[in-house]
Amino acid sequence: MSDRKGPGSVAACDGLPWIPIRLAPWPDGGRRVAGQAGMQDTSSAIWSQVKTLLSEEISPSNLDIWLGEVALKAVRDGEALLEVPNRYYGDWILDNYQAPLARAFGRILGRVVTVRVVENDGRKASAETEEGSVPSRKGGADTTHTFGWKGRPNPEKRFDNFVVGPCNDFAHGAAQAVSDFPGGVYNPLFMFGGSGLGKTHLLHAVGNAILRSTPGARVVYVTAEQFMTDMVSALRFNRMPEFRERYRNQADILLVDDVQFLGGKRGTQDEFFHTFESLLNSGRQIVMTADMLPRDIEGLEDRLKTRFASGLNADLMPPDLETMLAILHKKSEELGLKVPHDAALYIATGVGQNIRELEGALKLLSALMAMYNEPLTHETVVRRLPHLKAPERPVVTPDLVLRTVARIHNVKVEDLKGPSHQKSLVRPRHLAIFLIREHTELSFPDIGRFMGGRDSSTVQYACRKMAEMRRKDPDVAAILDLLEKNLKS
Ligand code: ADP
Ligand code: MG
Repeated sequence: MSDRKGPGSVAACDGLPWIPIRLAPWPDGGRRVAGQAGMQDTSSAIWSQVKTLLSEEISPSNLDIWLGEVALKAVRDGEALLEVPNRYYGDWILDNYQAPLARAFGRILGRVVTVRVVENDGRKASAETEEGSVPSRKGGADTTHTFGWKGRPNPEKRFDNFVVGPCNDFAHGAAQAVSDFPGGVYNPLFMFGGSGLGKTHLLHAVGNAILRSTPGARVVYVTAEQFMTDMVSALRFNRMPEFRERYRNQADILLVDDVQFLGGKRGTQDEFFHTFESLLNSGRQIVMTADMLPRDIEGLEDRLKTRFASGLNADLMPPDLETMLAILHKKSEELGLKVPHDAALYIATGVGQNIRELEGALKLLSALMAMYNEPLTHETVVRRLPHLKAPERPVVTPDLVLRTVARIHNVKVEDLKGPSHQKSLVRPRHLAIFLIREHTELSFPDIGRFMGGRDSSTVQYACRKMAEMRRKDPDVAAILDLLEKNLKS
């Protein structure tokens, strides 16, 4: 009679059973207290202002998920009483939003406010109509809600289109080993590294490889954020049993992306911990990624840090230029671009060490070339992608050094070059000689000639002396720093 599939039923498209949740919106009746309409109006006005303030700190989707169903029941004696759909919900709000809520109330009410939550007492009565029977579709008010995970690994991200270099071969090897022996010794596998270095790609690659060798495997890909959103939905709609069943019993391989997101989210961490334990204890494979080591994730419970690090940790490092070029050629081939070597170098050095940026630049290039119907040459690439140009470092010339030193010491350039051994000239002259030596290509004799025909040994002496003073005398070090800053700006 219903299209609702219980846990354990056969999957739809993603290899996993899915659980549509249909229910009517939270009944409004539970919130309003008869005879208190005036107070309700004030409360709802305050509440809407509070939410406006919160929108500065909380994303619209989170605001909607967490606070959309919450009402302000009362404000009294420095206390704001929030009415929440159920206990989990309230705990979560207090765990995660207590401080922003208190701040927002404080700003609006002009006093220190403690935030408390109370379960919606109208809920029980209204829940009875909801439970047991599936609400009718006729009403038009019911919303169909499914857990939002996409579930399946992205078929585009595979081992065969992942370029291996010294920067990622360890993580790549670990990911392959896990694909060959899921649930084996590398469990959990924790891959970490900076943004755009291929963590997510490898995570999907593991899933795809396992699906290929074991087509029936239940491989689940989820971001940590998605895990939280799913949990929040489950809490909101009182579907935690299904949520748990799904994550703990319906996944053979759980791929969790960006677990650093869990930092500071206590409620989610708790749930994740139990999911994790349950999967690991039944020999299922878990692979995670993060932008740092578990121990460095701020606000991550110790027990999770320990668990995350208990298998194999594999890092991804920024790619060297050769690997960048190899990736560039692979990707440009896929895009049907033939990038000449000099243009490839320009792009690879221009995007820094970020593969995501590299991909973006190539896609943009492909679009621009098609749009302008130009040949792909170094010149056109530089013209179309000028933002990749390395910032031009000003060239330091001996003249520039002299002018800068003269300006800052308030002396004349000619005097610095001249013969006078006046005290006010000797130190600036030595500084100038040292800086010319450090920042230009001039040899000792060249510098001597440039400085009004001085001896090479005099120049060497000045350089040695300044180098030593820079180490020993903080005043000299400060002056040299200042001069260098001026030279480079
Ligand atoms: P991360 O998750 O570490 O931020 P991604 O895995 O999303 O990075 O990688 C960014 C983009 O670069 C993706 O499109 C990915 O396919 C691609 N990419 C990263 N590393 C490689 C690689 N070694 N070979 C081919 N493509 C790569
Ligand atoms: Mg990623």
